[in-house]
Amino acid sequence: MADFTALKPGATIGILGGGQLARMIALAAARIGLKCHVFAPEPDSCAFGVVRRATLAEYDDEAALARFAEEVDVITYEFENVPADTAAFLSSRKPVLPDPSVLATTQDRLTEKDFVTSLGIATAPYAGIASAAEILPAIRKIGLPAVLKTRRFGYDGKGQIKIGPKDDAARAWRSLGEAPCILEGFVQFTREVSIVAARSADGEVVSFDITENEHSDHILKVSRVPARVSASVGKEGRLIAQKIAEALNYVGTLAVELFVVGDGKDETLLVNEIAPRVHNSGHWTIDGATVSQFEQHVRAVAGWPLGKPLRRGRIEMINLIGTEIDDYSKWLGVPKAYLHNYGKPAARPGRKMGHVTKVLAEEPAAKDAKVAPKAKIKATPKTKAKPKGRGK
Ligand code: AMP
Repeated sequence: MADFTALKPGATIGILGGGQLARMIALAAARIGLKCHVFAPEPDSCAFGVVRRATLAEYDDEAALARFAEEVDVITYEFENVPADTAAFLSSRKPVLPDPSVLATTQDRLTEKDFVTSLGIATAPYAGIASAAEILPAIRKIGLPAVLKTRRFGYDGKGQIKIGPKDDAARAWRSLGEAPCILEGFVQFTREVSIVAARSADGEVVSFDITENEHSDHILKVSRVPARVSASVGKEGRLIAQKIAEALNYVGTLAVELFVVGDGKDETLLVNEIAPRVHNSGHWTIDGATVSQFEQHVRAVAGWPLGKPLRRGRIEMINLIGTEIDDYSKWLGVPKAYLHNYGKPAARPGRKMGHVTKVLAEEPAAKDAKVAPKAKIKATPKTKAKPKGRGK
């Protein structure tokens, strides 16, 4: 990585990707005196409208990438599928944070699961499938029902199929284009939660409260904080995020999506996936906490100290999907409801167009945003996940 020193106010952060995450990073940066330059290939990128400089070019356009690198002080990204060549090209010119090695771990579900289990953190049981001959052995190992997922490029439920005992697994694999896959045991979770945390350049980790997430058609619909989990599960979530961030030598904001399994004293967590970026389940922090996930990310990549987020109460974040954005005006009169419209031109079905954060009840917030001591995690023994060797 190119040499890096803390940015001064007025410096420029380059962001790869021009969607709502880049837009909200740029808005947070502007508030604390930093500029942003967004690089994205889509002409209607909604982040273009809020930044000082924008580059509209493909990720393999080396001339455009070189100019972009020349004009910024540090580079970050809003999505995990940044092509490896793009990240390598840029990191030879300017610091790229989080380090591109993080992308190599998190772009591939099998490599990511191997990494998580190598830390002694539980996941659903899983097996890789690289050819038709590996389907039956994987099913024998994992059992059914299971979820077949492509190793790369899956999101919002795309690139995955649930397989039950009566289903034709080979056909399911063919329907995913015979791509390299991972078969995961189907988890009977009680709820889905996530932890959003940030790690600074000097290694401090600060996490937000564990957040409960409700999906509709595989797309996040509502996040609620606090999540309905025990205090010990909340603490376990923070430690999992901290351990992952430290093992990746991560700089910036990341999210860990988790399943809650069991109940009462047996309640525990399984990691579903890591998002090496700011995350939809952390949008509530803009209006619901004293420092947001976006500002934490900006502070981290700028080499600045992180903030200590205090939650403003019981919070609900509702995604406005597709034409739901057309009803924006109904939110304008709701007390303690904060409307965010990403300014996207076309409200296609399933497209995240905006969100609303509601502060439902003010609470004493003192418990929030603990800075955890050095991560110390015991492997959770109640899962069937078998630790495997490190990935490919
Ligand atoms: P993913 O793309 O891996 O985040 O999966 C999208 C959604 O599918 C998750 O939020 C879960 O609701 C569901 N899902 C994914 N993997 C599993 C699993 N192994 N068991 C049960 N549900 C799953």
